[in-house]
Amino acid sequence: MARTLLQHFGSPGADSDAGSHADDREPARADLHVHSQWSWDALQGSMEKTCARAVELGMRSVAFTEHSDFTPVAAGARLDVAGYLECLTRCRVRFPGLTIWSGVELGEPHRFPEEATAVLGQGTFDLVLGSLHCVEIQGRLVDCSALASNPELDPGSVMRNYFREMLGLLATPVEFQVLAHLEYPKRYWPAGHPEYRSQDYRAEIEAVLEAAARRGVALEINTTRGTDEARSLCPGPEVVRWWRQAGGRAVAIGSDAHQPEALGAGLDVAQEVALAAGFSASPVLTVSKPGSPLAELLTPG
Ligand SMILES: [Zn+2]
Ligand SMILES: [Zn+2]
Repeated sequence: MARTLLQHFGSPGADSDAGSHADDREPARADLHVHSQWSWDALQGSMEKTCARAVELGMRSVAFTEHSDFTPVAAGARLDVAGYLECLTRCRVRFPGLTIWSGVELGEPHRFPEEATAVLGQGTFDLVLGSLHCVEIQGRLVDCSALASNPELDPGSVMRNYFREMLGLLATPVEFQVLAHLEYPKRYWPAGHPEYRSQDYRAEIEAVLEAAARRGVALEINTTRGTDEARSLCPGPEVVRWWRQAGGRAVAIGSDAHQPEALGAGLDVAQEVALAAGFSASPVLTVSKPGSPLAELLTPG
Protein backbone atom coordinates (compact mmCIF):
# COMPACT_ATOMS: atom_id res chain seq x y z
CA MET A 1 0.00 0.00 0.00
CA ALA A 2 1.27 3.43 -0.75
CA ARG A 3 -1.31 5.98 0.29
CA THR A 4 -0.49 8.40 3.04
CA LEU A 5 -3.26 9.70 5.26
CA LEU A 6 -3.14 13.11 3.66
CA GLN A 7 -3.63 11.56 0.25
CA HIS A 8 -6.46 9.52 1.68
CA PHE A 9 -8.29 12.41 3.26
CA GLY A 10 -7.33 15.11 0.80
CA SER A 11 -6.39 18.57 1.88
CA PRO A 12 -7.55 19.96 5.22
CA GLY A 13 -11.24 20.76 5.08
CA ALA A 14 -11.89 18.63 2.03
CA ASP A 15 -13.93 16.13 4.01
CA SER A 16 -15.92 18.68 5.97
CA ASP A 17 -19.13 17.31 4.48
CA ALA A 18 -18.30 13.76 5.48
CA GLY A 19 -21.21 13.50 7.88
CA SER A 20 -19.46 13.33 11.24
CA HIS A 21 -21.42 14.90 14.08
CA ALA A 22 -21.36 14.51 17.82
CA ASP A 23 -24.93 13.25 17.74
CA ASP A 24 -24.17 10.23 15.58
CA ARG A 25 -21.94 8.77 18.25
CA GLU A 26 -21.98 5.01 18.54
CA PRO A 27 -19.90 2.55 20.56
CA ALA A 28 -16.41 2.05 19.17
CA ARG A 29 -16.74 -0.93 16.86
CA ALA A 30 -13.35 -1.05 15.19
CA ASP A 31 -10.17 -2.21 16.90
CA LEU A 32 -7.15 -1.10 14.89
CA HIS A 33 -4.40 -2.70 17.00
CA VAL A 34 -4.75 -6.41 17.69
CA HIS A 35 -2.25 -9.28 17.96
CA SER A 36 -2.72 -13.00 17.42
CA GLN A 37 -0.57 -16.11 17.59
CA TRP A 38 1.45 -14.70 14.69
CA SER A 39 3.07 -12.18 17.04
CA TRP A 40 6.11 -13.49 18.88
CA ASP A 41 4.89 -12.23 22.27
CA ALA A 42 1.25 -13.31 21.98
CA LEU A 43 1.47 -16.76 23.49
CA GLN A 44 -2.25 -16.71 24.34
CA GLY A 45 -3.16 -15.29 20.96
CA SER A 46 -5.60 -16.83 18.50
CA MET A 47 -6.77 -15.08 15.37
CA GLU A 48 -9.78 -17.33 15.03
CA LYS A 49 -10.93 -16.91 18.63
CA THR A 50 -10.33 -13.17 18.40
CA CYS A 51 -12.58 -12.99 15.32
CA ALA A 52 -15.24 -15.02 17.13
CA ARG A 53 -14.97 -12.62 20.06
CA ALA A 54 -15.29 -9.63 17.71
CA VAL A 55 -18.52 -11.07 16.30
CA GLU A 56 -19.78 -11.69 19.84
CA LEU A 57 -19.04 -8.06 20.77
CA GLY A 58 -20.80 -6.77 17.69
CA MET A 59 -17.66 -5.22 16.28
CA ARG A 60 -17.50 -4.05 12.71
CA SER A 61 -13.80 -4.51 12.02
CA VAL A 62 -10.52 -5.70 13.43
CA ALA A 63 -6.97 -5.09 12.23
CA PHE A 64 -4.41 -7.78 13.06
CA THR A 65 -1.26 -5.73 13.41
CA GLU A 66 1.33 -8.39 14.16
CA HIS A 67 4.74 -7.57 15.58
CA SER A 68 7.71 -7.24 13.31
CA ASP A 69 10.70 -6.53 15.53
CA PHE A 70 14.42 -6.67 14.90
CA THR A 71 15.78 -5.67 18.30
CA PRO A 72 17.45 -8.19 20.62
CA VAL A 73 14.24 -8.23 22.68
CA ALA A 74 12.52 -10.28 19.97
CA ALA A 75 15.36 -12.81 20.19
CA GLY A 76 15.41 -13.32 16.45
CA ALA A 77 11.68 -14.07 16.13
CA ARG A 78 10.46 -13.08 12.68
CA LEU A 79 6.92 -12.60 11.43
CA ASP A 80 5.89 -15.47 9.14
CA VAL A 81 4.10 -13.23 6.66
CA ALA A 82 2.91 -16.03 4.37
CA GLY A 83 1.52 -18.12 7.25
CA TYR A 84 -0.12 -15.07 8.80
CA LEU A 85 -1.79 -13.99 5.57
CA GLU A 86 -3.06 -17.53 4.91
CA CYS A 87 -4.61 -17.60 8.37
CA LEU A 88 -6.17 -14.19 7.74
CA THR A 89 -7.69 -15.43 4.49
CA ARG A 90 -9.19 -18.44 6.29
CA CYS A 91 -10.69 -16.15 8.95
CA ARG A 92 -12.16 -13.84 6.32
CA VAL A 93 -13.97 -16.83 4.83
CA ARG A 94 -15.10 -18.10 8.23
CA PHE A 95 -16.32 -14.68 9.49
CA PRO A 96 -17.84 -13.00 6.43
CA GLY A 97 -19.74 -10.42 8.49
CA LEU A 98 -16.57 -9.05 10.07
CA THR A 99 -14.13 -6.83 8.22
CA ILE A 100 -10.66 -8.22 8.92
CA TRP A 101 -7.75 -5.98 8.01
CA SER A 102 -4.19 -7.20 7.55
CA GLY A 103 -1.54 -5.25 9.34
CA VAL A 104 1.86 -5.11 10.92
CA GLU A 105 3.37 -3.25 13.85
CA LEU A 106 6.87 -2.29 12.80
CA GLY A 107 9.17 -1.89 15.80
CA GLU A 108 11.97 0.67 15.39
CA PRO A 109 11.75 0.71 11.56
CA HIS A 110 14.12 3.73 11.49
CA ARG A 111 16.87 1.55 12.95
CA PHE A 112 16.13 -1.40 10.68
CA PRO A 113 14.89 0.16 7.42
CA GLU A 114 16.01 -2.64 5.11
CA GLU A 115 14.52 -5.37 7.27
CA ALA A 116 11.25 -3.47 7.76
CA THR A 117 10.94 -2.69 4.05
CA ALA A 118 11.56 -6.35 3.24
CA VAL A 119 8.69 -7.39 5.53
CA LEU A 120 6.33 -4.89 3.88
CA GLY A 121 7.35 -6.32 0.51
CA GLN A 122 6.31 -9.83 1.50
CA GLY A 123 2.59 -9.17 1.45
CA THR A 124 -0.22 -6.66 1.30
CA PHE A 125 -0.83 -4.90 4.57
CA ASP A 126 -3.91 -2.74 4.97
CA LEU A 127 -2.50 -0.99 8.02
CA VAL A 128 1.06 -0.36 9.19
CA LEU A 129 1.81 0.90 12.69
CA GLY A 130 5.11 2.58 13.52
CA SER A 131 6.24 1.69 17.04
CA LEU A 132 8.99 2.36 19.49
CA HIS A 133 9.53 -0.12 22.31
CA CYS A 134 13.25 0.31 22.88
CA VAL A 135 15.53 3.23 23.63
CA GLU A 136 19.28 3.46 23.55
CA ILE A 137 20.86 3.47 26.98
CA GLN A 138 24.65 3.51 27.23
CA GLY A 139 24.95 2.30 23.66
CA ARG A 140 22.52 -0.57 24.09
CA LEU A 141 18.93 -0.89 22.90
CA VAL A 142 16.85 -1.54 26.00
CA ASP A 143 13.14 -2.35 26.05
CA CYS A 144 11.30 0.28 28.05
CA SER A 145 9.67 -2.45 30.14
CA ALA A 146 13.05 -2.67 31.91
CA LEU A 147 12.07 0.56 33.70
CA ALA A 148 9.79 -1.44 35.97
CA SER A 149 12.49 -3.81 37.14
CA ASN A 150 15.84 -2.05 36.83
CA PRO A 151 16.32 0.54 39.61
CA GLU A 152 19.46 1.86 37.89
CA LEU A 153 17.36 3.33 35.08
CA ASP A 154 16.28 6.91 35.59
CA PRO A 155 12.71 7.16 34.25
CA GLY A 156 13.09 10.83 33.32
CA SER A 157 16.10 10.19 31.09
CA VAL A 158 14.51 7.11 29.55
CA MET A 159 11.46 9.21 28.71
CA ARG A 160 13.56 11.97 27.13
CA ASN A 161 15.58 9.41 25.15
CA TYR A 162 12.31 7.92 24.01
CA PHE A 163 10.91 11.21 22.70
CA ARG A 164 14.22 11.97 20.97
CA GLU A 165 14.19 8.52 19.36
CA MET A 166 10.61 9.14 18.27
CA LEU A 167 11.82 11.99 16.04
CA GLY A 168 14.07 9.43 14.32
CA LEU A 169 11.12 7.10 13.82
CA LEU A 170 9.08 9.92 12.29
CA ALA A 171 11.89 10.71 9.85
CA THR A 172 12.23 7.18 8.49
CA PRO A 173 11.50 6.58 4.82
CA VAL A 174 9.82 3.31 5.81
CA GLU A 175 6.09 3.67 5.30
CA PHE A 176 3.59 3.58 8.14
CA GLN A 177 0.21 5.21 8.71
CA VAL A 178 -0.30 5.20 12.47
CA LEU A 179 2.03 6.25 15.26
CA ALA A 180 1.44 3.63 17.95
CA HIS A 181 1.26 4.10 21.72
CA LEU A 182 3.05 7.42 22.22
CA GLU A 183 4.31 7.71 25.85
CA TYR A 184 4.85 3.94 25.90
CA PRO A 185 7.51 3.96 28.70
CA LYS A 186 4.96 5.31 31.19
CA ARG A 187 3.37 1.87 31.23
CA TYR A 188 6.43 0.74 33.16
CA TRP A 189 6.92 3.80 35.36
CA PRO A 190 8.65 2.52 38.51
CA ALA A 191 7.12 2.84 41.94
CA GLY A 192 8.82 5.29 44.26
CA HIS A 193 9.27 8.01 41.62
CA PRO A 194 7.05 11.06 41.24
CA GLU A 195 4.13 10.12 38.98
CA TYR A 196 4.56 10.52 35.22
CA ARG A 197 2.93 13.67 33.91
CA SER A 198 2.74 14.53 30.22
CA GLN A 199 3.00 18.19 31.19
CA ASP A 200 6.58 17.66 32.43
CA TYR A 201 7.62 16.69 28.88
CA ARG A 202 5.40 19.06 26.97
CA ALA A 203 8.15 20.57 24.79
CA GLU A 204 9.46 17.12 23.80
CA ILE A 205 5.97 15.78 23.13
CA GLU A 206 4.95 18.80 21.06
CA ALA A 207 8.04 18.37 18.89
CA VAL A 208 6.98 14.76 18.27
CA LEU A 209 3.38 15.75 17.52
CA GLU A 210 4.47 18.44 15.09
CA ALA A 211 6.71 15.96 13.26
CA ALA A 212 3.85 13.44 13.18
CA ALA A 213 1.42 16.05 11.82
CA ARG A 214 3.93 17.05 9.15
CA ARG A 215 4.34 13.41 8.16
CA GLY A 216 0.57 13.00 7.95
CA VAL A 217 0.25 9.92 10.16
CA ALA A 218 -2.62 9.21 12.55
CA LEU A 219 -2.03 9.22 16.28
CA GLU A 220 -3.12 6.08 18.04
CA ILE A 221 -4.85 6.03 21.41
CA ASN A 222 -3.81 2.66 22.81
CA THR A 223 -5.77 1.15 25.68
CA THR A 224 -3.71 -1.95 26.42
CA ARG A 225 -3.06 -1.30 30.09
CA GLY A 226 -6.64 -0.40 30.82
CA THR A 227 -7.84 3.15 30.87
CA ASP A 228 -6.15 4.74 33.86
CA GLU A 229 -5.10 8.10 32.45
CA ALA A 230 -1.89 8.60 34.40
CA ARG A 231 -0.16 5.36 33.52
CA SER A 232 -2.08 3.52 30.91
CA LEU A 233 -3.86 5.30 28.12
CA CYS A 234 -1.09 5.85 25.57
CA PRO A 235 -0.98 8.73 25.01
CA GLY A 236 -3.01 10.44 27.72
CA PRO A 237 -5.92 12.82 27.06
CA GLU A 238 -3.79 15.95 27.40
CA VAL A 239 -1.51 14.76 24.60
CA VAL A 240 -4.48 14.01 22.35
CA ARG A 241 -5.59 17.62 22.85
CA TRP A 242 -2.10 18.85 21.94
CA TRP A 243 -2.27 16.61 18.86
CA ARG A 244 -5.36 18.45 17.63
CA GLN A 245 -3.67 21.79 18.36
CA ALA A 246 -0.58 20.66 16.43
CA GLY A 247 -2.76 20.09 13.37
CA GLY A 248 -3.16 16.34 13.81
CA ARG A 249 -5.76 15.12 11.31
CA ALA A 250 -6.62 11.66 12.53
CA VAL A 251 -6.81 9.41 15.56
CA ALA A 252 -6.78 5.61 15.52
CA ILE A 253 -7.99 3.60 18.48
CA GLY A 254 -6.74 0.15 19.39
CA SER A 255 -6.70 -2.19 22.35
CA ASP A 256 -3.30 -3.81 21.59
CA ALA A 257 -5.00 -7.06 22.68
CA HIS A 258 -2.62 -10.01 22.79
CA GLN A 259 -5.40 -12.49 23.59
CA PRO A 260 -9.03 -12.76 22.49
CA GLU A 261 -10.49 -11.72 25.86
CA ALA A 262 -8.76 -8.32 25.68
CA LEU A 263 -10.20 -7.37 22.30
CA GLY A 264 -11.91 -4.00 22.28
CA ALA A 265 -11.14 -3.21 25.93
CA GLY A 266 -11.21 0.50 26.65
CA LEU A 267 -12.05 1.60 23.13
CA ASP A 268 -15.09 3.58 24.24
CA VAL A 269 -12.93 5.52 26.70
CA ALA A 270 -10.40 6.22 23.94
CA GLN A 271 -13.23 7.41 21.71
CA GLU A 272 -14.42 9.78 24.45
CA VAL A 273 -10.89 11.16 24.78
CA ALA A 274 -10.73 11.74 21.04
CA LEU A 275 -14.12 13.44 21.11
CA ALA A 276 -13.09 15.72 23.98
CA ALA A 277 -9.99 16.71 22.00
CA GLY A 278 -12.08 17.81 19.02
CA PHE A 279 -12.14 14.67 16.91
CA SER A 280 -15.37 13.18 15.63
CA ALA A 281 -17.52 10.96 17.79
CA SER A 282 -17.48 8.14 15.30
CA PRO A 283 -15.44 7.17 12.27
CA VAL A 284 -16.11 8.93 9.06
CA LEU A 285 -17.45 6.10 6.98
CA THR A 286 -18.34 7.32 3.56
CA VAL A 287 -18.66 5.63 0.22
CA SER A 288 -15.66 7.59 -0.95
CA LYS A 289 -13.39 5.79 1.51
CA PRO A 290 -14.19 2.10 1.30
CA GLY A 291 -11.77 -0.75 1.40
CA SER A 292 -9.33 0.56 3.96
CA PRO A 293 -8.98 0.65 7.72
CA LEU A 294 -8.24 4.34 7.27
CA ALA A 295 -12.02 4.72 7.00
CA GLU A 296 -12.14 3.82 10.70
CA LEU A 297 -10.04 6.77 11.82
CA LEU A 298 -11.54 9.59 13.85
CA THR A 299 -11.04 12.93 12.17
CA PRO A 300 -11.73 16.46 13.35
CA GLY A 301 -15.45 16.78 14.04
ZN1 LIG B 1 3.71 -2.01 20.64
ZN1 LIG C 1 1.02 -3.99 19.73
